[in-house]
Amino acid sequence: MKNDSEIRVCKNKKCKKILPEGYKHRYCEACRNKHAQIAKNVVKGATAFAGVAVLVISGGKIDLKK
Ligand SMILES: [Zn+2]
Repeated sequence: MKNDSEIRVCKNKKCKKILPEGYKHRYCEACRNKHAQIAKNVVKGATAFAGVAVLVISGGKIDLKK
């Protein structure tokens, strides 16, 4: 008989996919890929923002208003 407490599921509450035995991560592969994609998008967004800021500054338009 298997002990239910030994079954590990994905920590994503919307997912809860059963993780294979010996799986090292708390999220299933699909969720991990999603997270990696989000992290990439955040980096992309930050880079784009920095680019815009450089453009604005180099254009002589430094806007201090928020
Ligand atoms: Zn998952």
